[in-house]
Amino acid sequence: MAIQNKMFADQQKQELFAKAQQYGLDYISKARDRNVFPTEEALTALKQFDGDLPECGDTASAILDLLQEFGTPATISQVAGRYFGFVNGSVVPAALAAKNLSIFWDQNSCLSVMSPICGKLEAVVEKWLITLLGLPEQSVAGFVSGTSMANFCGLAAARYRLLAKQGWDINEQGLFGAPKLRVVTGSHTHSSILKAIALAGFGRGNIEFVDCDDQGRVLADKMPTLDDSTLLILQAGNVNSGAFDPFEKICKTAKEQGTWIHIDGAFGLWAGATKTFGHLTEGYAHADSWAVDGHKTLNTPYDSGIILCADREALASSLHISAPYLSTSNEREGMYYTPEMSRRARIIELWATLKYLGREGIDEMISNMHQRAVQFASLLEKVEGFEVLNDVVFNQVIAQCKSDTLTESVMQEIQKQRVCWVGGSSWKGRKVIRISVCSWATTAEDIELSYQSFVSALRKCLSEETSYTK
Ligand SMILES: *Cc1c(COP(=O)(O)O)cnc(C)c1O
Repeated sequence: MAIQNKMFADQQKQELFAKAQQYGLDYISKARDRNVFPTEEALTALKQFDGDLPECGDTASAILDLLQEFGTPATISQVAGRYFGFVNGSVVPAALAAKNLSIFWDQNSCLSVMSPICGKLEAVVEKWLITLLGLPEQSVAGFVSGTSMANFCGLAAARYRLLAKQGWDINEQGLFGAPKLRVVTGSHTHSSILKAIALAGFGRGNIEFVDCDDQGRVLADKMPTLDDSTLLILQAGNVNSGAFDPFEKICKTAKEQGTWIHIDGAFGLWAGATKTFGHLTEGYAHADSWAVDGHKTLNTPYDSGIILCADREALASSLHISAPYLSTSNEREGMYYTPEMSRRARIIELWATLKYLGREGIDEMISNMHQRAVQFASLLEKVEGFEVLNDVVFNQVIAQCKSDTLTESVMQEIQKQRVCWVGGSSWKGRKVIRISVCSWATTAEDIELSYQSFVSALRKCLSEETSYTK
């Protein structure tokens, strides 16, 4: 039992865990000074991880050292304030600390009897979220890995309910020969919605796309006639422009037609938790299901997504399983509202984040992110050579240079400088630089530094352009 003895010994080695802690603390203390993206050298050194599975395992201490030496330098500096790629978000300190404690517990959130603490916190957070977001009182929440999964759950619930209304039990009878359902969404819908549509068997080829305005918002007057066999998918926060669909104009009528409304609010749904941005989500409470991430705007650790659903029976019926060995209590059971059985204890971090920030803290944190985005956009607008293409309504800025080639090379130069990190996208057929401000740690100075990197990258690329043409 050599391996068991090794593990008994390591489990009690305080210096082992203290070392991990120390490496982590060093990382956090230097986070603001690190290059945002790994250097070429650090990327090349990743080859240290190549090689075959060892016959005899290494020591835990050596494994930590390897991660510290070659892993740490190859991370993205996401916990500081100048990573603007995708919509990633940082991590709230209390959540990081709570996660640190809970990793020692290694809880399974499946059933309350498997983890009373997780069962309790899920029930508490479910109530908090419904109040915070102003959703229908009877709504339930499933704590999943992210919005991709939350979108899928919302669509599964919709499919269950829309078919049940026509006397069809999807769980028993399946999709073959089922009454036809319609699926309607904006032409700017997120790719994860397209995936969920395919997964749920609606078929991407059946989507009725609705035209959008120049910000990517569904045009209410272009909506097709809706009915009670239709799934309508709207979004709170366009992944490029940050724009919100006009819920107030669409949802009430859609609801009256018996249409199921799902809202993809991966990062934008949190607008509904604030005073400042509440106008963006007005009318969204008429929907039936909502998907949102903890790990984006709210800055919980990865991975954390939430499906909220006003129709408990539909969500639970589409995800429910039972087996004789799964003893359940009268408590709310997390497993009823998620596709998985075993799940890590992500609720601890989400709970800690909400408890630490409070209503006011959430509002203030989100307002700060947005103000930094506004600052970035207004600095760029003053520079000859950059154009900001969107109305900055919530954390997102899209910018472009005079030509696609220039936009691409400026973006690459910015990435090379490593002061900040921004990614690309396309907007109305043109290449764009996409800036997403979603870290609590972003300061006005971070924006100023990043802006200077943008300007120097543009100058460099312009001068190279001129020297080629000479
Ligand atoms: C990020 C995002 C998703 C996918 O969320 P994950 O948590 O990455 O699965 C879906 N929709 C929108 C609008 C997003 O921004």
